[in-house]
Amino acid sequence: MSIPTIARVTVHPVTYPEPNDNNSMRFLTFVRIESTDGHVGWGEAITQFPGSTRGTVEIVKALADDLIGKDPTQNLGIWRDIRKATWWYSYRGGLVHFALSAIDIALWDLKGKITSQSLIQMIGQRDSSTDLRIPVLASTHVFNANLDIEVARHAKYVQEGYMGFKIGMGKRGDARIGYDVDRDIKFVQDLRFAAGPKAWIMMDRGQSLNWRLDETIARVQAWEESGLKWVEEPFEPWEFEHFRKLRQQITTMIAGGEREWDYRGYSEVINSGTLDVVGVDVGRVEGITGMLSIIKLIEAAGLWFNSHAWSSAINTAASIALSASTSRCLLQELKPDENPMQHELIEEPFVASKGSIGVPDKPGLGITVNEKVVAKYAF
Ligand SMILES: [Mg+2]
Repeated sequence: MSIPTIARVTVHPVTYPEPNDNNSMRFLTFVRIESTDGHVGWGEAITQFPGSTRGTVEIVKALADDLIGKDPTQNLGIWRDIRKATWWYSYRGGLVHFALSAIDIALWDLKGKITSQSLIQMIGQRDSSTDLRIPVLASTHVFNANLDIEVARHAKYVQEGYMGFKIGMGKRGDARIGYDVDRDIKFVQDLRFAAGPKAWIMMDRGQSLNWRLDETIARVQAWEESGLKWVEEPFEPWEFEHFRKLRQQITTMIAGGEREWDYRGYSEVINSGTLDVVGVDVGRVEGITGMLSIIKLIEAAGLWFNSHAWSSAINTAASIALSASTSRCLLQELKPDENPMQHELIEEPFVASKGSIGVPDKPGLGITVNEKVVAKYAF
């Protein structure tokens, strides 16, 4: 029997309203790779914006011709070929990293389907347990000007089976959390009261907010009294001095790193000694192959890995397996409210149950992408 080779590579940009982000339009770039024996693999880049999506589409198209005829089970070699071929325009970051992420994820999916192995079987799980589950967290934004509504909404997620929530601040809508220190402190006190003593509560500064060091210390010290689990990206990624000074004043864990692109960027932030939790998005960091190298760095430093999975179920499927591949992972984030790219895109959407989620065990990513939905949201 002849070895299946890559027959077709197509790129599918999508745009969709995200209910978890006040129905704002978001953008992703999917890649579909089909082998000569009819298997199909899907990958995703979290391109987020129209311009980055258009650019990534063109790069995927430019790389696609060289993939035809290659053996998809040699995905690591293909990954290295692409790194080599794009040396001039992708050193340490940029759109090629998106394109390579989507291609790499699709190849792992395809390889798993051809060889009848799930992703977790291919990359190896953190231990030998037979029922591997990951604690699961609702990853949210707040939009409502009436914060009582937001407090009740978040308490409900805990009742529904999430072990807690992480709230992105400074996002779309009228909640304006992250702007007023006293109001922010009161909000977290109210969340703690409503969600109960065991709920994990994390707060994530959005990029539109600029926090001074002194007010950040005041905020996090007060949140600490409400049992905050971690504060995420309190400053811009390169403001290492601010991170260090904040760290001297608090005991809460500090998360960050999600704007880096590859193991070089991650080794810089890890070596800064300012983070406890390292955020990484498989749709940005050169895919599963890139992510595995970053997880090794995180493990070597004894930090915590956190997959930033806030896009499609393709990303979520890969992220859950990657989370299950390391003992340095505390939880898996999910968008809690029904949305097109999680609940329409695949046949069996991921759901939290009693505070945890299982690891996909079908071949490849373990999901079935509905191509009509990809076409429906075409950008
Ligand atoms: Mg974040």
